[in-house]
Amino acid sequence: MSAYNTTLASLDCDEETLRGHLQGADIPTLLMTVAHLTGDLDVLKPDWKPVVAMGVAGSGMSPDVEAEVREFCLLRLLAFRDNGLPVPARPTSDQLHALGTWLMGPVIEPYLPLVAEELVTAEEDPRAPRWHKEHVAADRDFKVVIIGAGESGMIAALRFKQAGVPFVVYEKGSDVGGTWRENTYPGCRIDINSFFYSFSFARSTWDDCFAPGPQVFGYMQAVARERGLYEHIQFNTEVTDAHWDEDSQCWKMLCRNSTGQTRVDSNVVVFAVGQLNRPMIPAIPGIETFEGPAFHSAQWDHNVDWSGKRVGVIGTGASAAQFIPQLAKTAADLKVFARTTNWLLPTPDLHEKISDSCKWLLANLPNYSLWYRAAMVMPQSVGFLEDVVVDVDYPPTEVAVSARNDQLRQAISAWMEPQFADRDVLIPDSPVGGKRIIRDNGTWISTLKRDNVSMIRLPIEAITPKGICCVDGTEHEFDIIVYGTGFHASKFLMPINITGRDGLALHEVWKDNDARAYMGMTVPGFPNMFCMYGPNTGLVVYSTIIQFSEFTATYIVDAVRLLLEGGHQSMEIKPQVFESYNQRVDQANGLRAWGFSKVNSWYKNSKGRVTQNFPFNAVEFWRRTHEVEPTDYHLS
Ligand code: NAP
Repeated sequence: MSAYNTTLASLDCDEETLRGHLQGADIPTLLMTVAHLTGDLDVLKPDWKPVVAMGVAGSGMSPDVEAEVREFCLLRLLAFRDNGLPVPARPTSDQLHALGTWLMGPVIEPYLPLVAEELVTAEEDPRAPRWHKEHVAADRDFKVVIIGAGESGMIAALRFKQAGVPFVVYEKGSDVGGTWRENTYPGCRIDINSFFYSFSFARSTWDDCFAPGPQVFGYMQAVARERGLYEHIQFNTEVTDAHWDEDSQCWKMLCRNSTGQTRVDSNVVVFAVGQLNRPMIPAIPGIETFEGPAFHSAQWDHNVDWSGKRVGVIGTGASAAQFIPQLAKTAADLKVFARTTNWLLPTPDLHEKISDSCKWLLANLPNYSLWYRAAMVMPQSVGFLEDVVVDVDYPPTEVAVSARNDQLRQAISAWMEPQFADRDVLIPDSPVGGKRIIRDNGTWISTLKRDNVSMIRLPIEAITPKGICCVDGTEHEFDIIVYGTGFHASKFLMPINITGRDGLALHEVWKDNDARAYMGMTVPGFPNMFCMYGPNTGLVVYSTIIQFSEFTATYIVDAVRLLLEGGHQSMEIKPQVFESYNQRVDQANGLRAWGFSKVNSWYKNSKGRVTQNFPFNAVEFWRRTHEVEPTDYHLS
């Protein structure tokens, strides 16, 4: 994990060396760092204001102007060092306001309190609980069970550990990391910048702008190791049943592992079981008859030799767009069955390494790492939400849901179209934001243009022993079929049997995959039960699941504080609070591109209700999860 420098000692190099390091500086980050260190806000000249586009703040400068800015910053840094002034730990709120509005304009205003919390220096952890069980209920016998040791279970575990609340984590797999342990397909990587897709309290020295899967898995393992989480986790242990026992006011669970089944009791249960992890293989007629290897992207068969093979891939989602370019390098012939297509987000640095000089600056230039992250968090938080809000007067269509949405469509089309002029049209027939946007640096489109790759837009009728048959009667023969067909996203908490008060079965309450919860976490009739990454907590391109899990964990740990401090046995969300929250969410989701569009997407359940997305901005979720409002709950 990182050891970012907070002193000037590391700047004790000669001028030429420092000049060399600044070559790798991100210009907006460098200017904000210098302004913060020196306290001189005039450094942020209006002429040097960054250009923010598609969630990224760039300098927008010519190379000559960039060189001028670097030289300016070099002189300021040398003067600051030579004066021996102390390194300020955090910006004042006035400074943050000035820096934020210089970067983003006044639109950043409501986000600044959240940005301030994200500005974490090494060793700081502002989201750690500010209470300890010893001080609120030292003698009370109390235990929490967390199910799942992916990123969300890990953060919950850390917070309970910090609060001194006894807990145990059950994980059905053999290690932490969840999706990053499970998905091993070639080309797998995060599509949020690595420095944003990191726990706020555990910065890493990433090697890649968008880290490959194994690097993210390694990061998760390192966090679990360094934070002492492993000793709290029972691996290869699956919780199969959980029921609320009114008499003991506890959850009673059944855990299964290789040695058999055990019973476990806990006062509180936290489901951190992930959500995009139950592979969905479509029920296509004849699917079982295919004679060659056939598997899902999340169950990759690493023994398959692709060279010279004819490969059929079903699906064009985020997973397929990552593994198809890898397979295309060796397969003789690769056919992609594309029912619909996705909008692409131009991301030139998608496969870029973090340069040595950038790594040096992150490690050695005091506070550079703070502003490096802030320069991502700010544009990303403001992000795309306004671009996908439906303007009912526009009028919204499957082309665009508002004038802003149309502008974004045109900007992306202008990048996509010249790349595939000689190919079948890839432009989706749904508005931008109707379904998951996929990042691309040109690799996906250029793969589809390869001679050995073709895209088939006809619907599939059946799978045969030799291949895939389309509705026009054409049979495409393959040696291997890969299902990039996604996950049972709407089947939250499947397949655990969960029974709440009065024998209420959660899967009955959520029947037809219509899962709802208050803030994605609590459900009437299910006291002391909390979900992480639950219904309607998906943040679409303006936050990260890690950030949302941190917010959620803050809330859950605060709920436990409420139980302990008040001497309560149970807490259950009031039905009216739950209902009005969900009505508001549903209403807002109907006015977002993903709720308006009729396009297929895993954001919606089979009834067409959006069960995945949180339709508001990250600040709203953050504010509502800071602490539990006791009047929202029946406390007993
Ligand atoms: P997905 O986005 O749900 O895509 C599934 C694909 O399979 C779609 O193209 C879908 O077509 C197609 N499909 C499903 N059933 C089909 C059928 N019967 N016939 C033909 N086509 C069918 O799944 P995914 O690509 O695995 O991604 C799921 C999510 O995981 C992503 O959206 C993302 O949130 C996450 N993920 C993230 C990353 C990352 O970089 N961080 C990487 C991979 C995945 P339709 O679109 O027409 O339904």
